[in-house]
Amino acid sequence: MVNEPRYRSERETVTDTGVDMVAQELTKGTGGNVSARTDDGNVVISPSGVPYDDIDLEERPAVTVNGEQVAGDLSPSSETPMHTTVYAGRADIGGIVHTHSPYTSTFASLREPIPASSYLIAYAGHEVPVAGYAPPGSEELANDALDALGETTNACLLANHGVLAIGDSEKRRSKTPSSSNTVPGSTTRQAPSAIR
Ligand code: 13P
Ligand code: ZN
Repeated sequence: MVNEPRYRSERETVTDTGVDMVAQELTKGTGGNVSARTDDGNVVISPSGVPYDDIDLEERPAVTVNGEQVAGDLSPSSETPMHTTVYAGRADIGGIVHTHSPYTSTFASLREPIPASSYLIAYAGHEVPVAGYAPPGSEELANDALDALGETTNACLLANHGVLAIGDSEKRRSKTPSSSNTVPGSTTRQAPSAIR
């Protein structure tokens, strides 16, 4: 019998979500990143700088919550510290999406939180807060993002950069606040509010 590739379902979902993000203009090219927590507590994450539609299943990386690579040949996203820090701090979540969507990047550049002006934004919490600026890929950005999310908020802006949205799993899709585009969510539990 042929061995089933490790984390097949999470690897497929992470890549499919990335392809969808580009198709829906939530990000461009290889921008942004996606991850899913696995049943054994590791994290499947999109590779760094590789087009989402051009990655063989077995190349797709997985890391421990300490960032040690445990599967796939491709280098994990440069934002791995942000993903692992948020998973470590939020035991309730199973999926993370980061995009450079135009509308949220505008708010992020203005460093303006997005008020809960519709029920879809309210899903993220009382508002979508802004994490302070820190360089992409840094531990500082990771910690700032977790601070902004706190214990209950499901999305935050990354100052002068983009948006981070979290949820119980990245598999389900939910409507975005500002358009009919769909975003990653969960099949079994709640969906994150990835915001256009
Ligand atoms: P990666 O390609 O390394 O995931 O980086 C994209 C990005 O959005 C950095 O913030
Ligand atoms: Zn980014």
